[in-house]
Amino acid sequence: MTDSRKILAIQSAVDPPRLSIEEATILYDEAEFGELLHAGLLRRRSMIPGNEVTYLVDRNVNYTNVCTINCQFCSFYRPPGHAETYTQTIDEISYRFSELEDIGGTRVLMQGGVHPELPLNWYIDLLSELRRRHPSIALDCFSPIEIEGIADICGLSTKEVLSRFKEAGMHGLPGGGAEMLVDVVRLDVSPKKGSADNWLRVMEEAQVLGLTTSATNVIGFGESNAHRVQHMDRVRSLQDASKAAGCVGFTSFIAWPVQLENNSFGRRNRGRNRIELGATSREYLRHIAVSRLFFDNIDHIQASWPTMGMGIAQLALLAGADDAGSTMMEENVVSASGTTKTEAAETELQRTILMAGFRPRKRDSDYNLLNTTIESKANTPAPPPTQPA
Ligand code: SF4
Repeated sequence: MTDSRKILAIQSAVDPPRLSIEEATILYDEAEFGELLHAGLLRRRSMIPGNEVTYLVDRNVNYTNVCTINCQFCSFYRPPGHAETYTQTIDEISYRFSELEDIGGTRVLMQGGVHPELPLNWYIDLLSELRRRHPSIALDCFSPIEIEGIADICGLSTKEVLSRFKEAGMHGLPGGGAEMLVDVVRLDVSPKKGSADNWLRVMEEAQVLGLTTSATNVIGFGESNAHRVQHMDRVRSLQDASKAAGCVGFTSFIAWPVQLENNSFGRRNRGRNRIELGATSREYLRHIAVSRLFFDNIDHIQASWPTMGMGIAQLALLAGADDAGSTMMEENVVSASGTTKTEAAETELQRTILMAGFRPRKRDSDYNLLNTTIESKANTPAPPPTQPA
């Protein structure tokens, strides 16, 4: 029996030992595709029993595109002074919240660039006012690098900034900006973003404060499978520490491939074999299965339909993912990099889940299950794409 088969046999038993970094790398490199995905599905069934796949009705709000960090894979930001910069007012942002309320949404993911001038009170006034006007919407806002930028401007620690934002109504700190928590990869594509340690430290501070957090992972910068597992290990180690300290820790792990269009990372690597950069569907599905087996301390693994499409997201549900992500009304960051579709109607997500053989269940930002009406249209196959005239 090959090493990968032995590891999968052990991992498929009841109550298996924790998967080591070395074993996870062997699985990533060598395991037979179908066997690896099946092991991911078995683990999902033991960790999340039942046949439900959850999803969230939410929207994205990108309050500003001004940013000084210049990540090479980012097509969204504009440097200060650029003609296409914008920063939204409270009323403009509030209007977007109202649109979400109209369709029964429960969470706004509000992120922007690292703006060099907005003062602390701009953010506090924004959060307080949104909390007052839209009490039923969870405010999951900013990423660790934004918190660091705000801390620099106002001269407070990142922990103090997080604490003030929580008091003002912030519910969670999303996991944006993790990308690859391996400095040799990270500092090559985002030299101004700071080390992996910084991202993990701010996340730990958020978890200690009781903010809802998730862990993300962007793959396809040309890193090795061992690097990808190292990223998972950094996240798993923090999760161990957070849980030992009595915190909830990360609710979920969400991975997707880097998008290569419209950004300097794609341009500087033009001509390289596309299999080296980004990730093929098979590679992405291996990543889902390995992450499900690796994270014995994070309950939810998310399928990323905006970057992979609904079909691959369905396969991800059969490789260990238990969550179909969210409707993402008005997503701007990933779509700026050439992804063609980054928002979905609730019916479409329900249909995607049903057609993969699972039952859709709406959730909130904390993975609390909500009453769910399955639309009759969700039970019919999607219409074929319209042919151009
Ligand atoms: S990914 Fe975020 S931090 Fe990096 S350039 Fe884009 S907006 Fe700025």
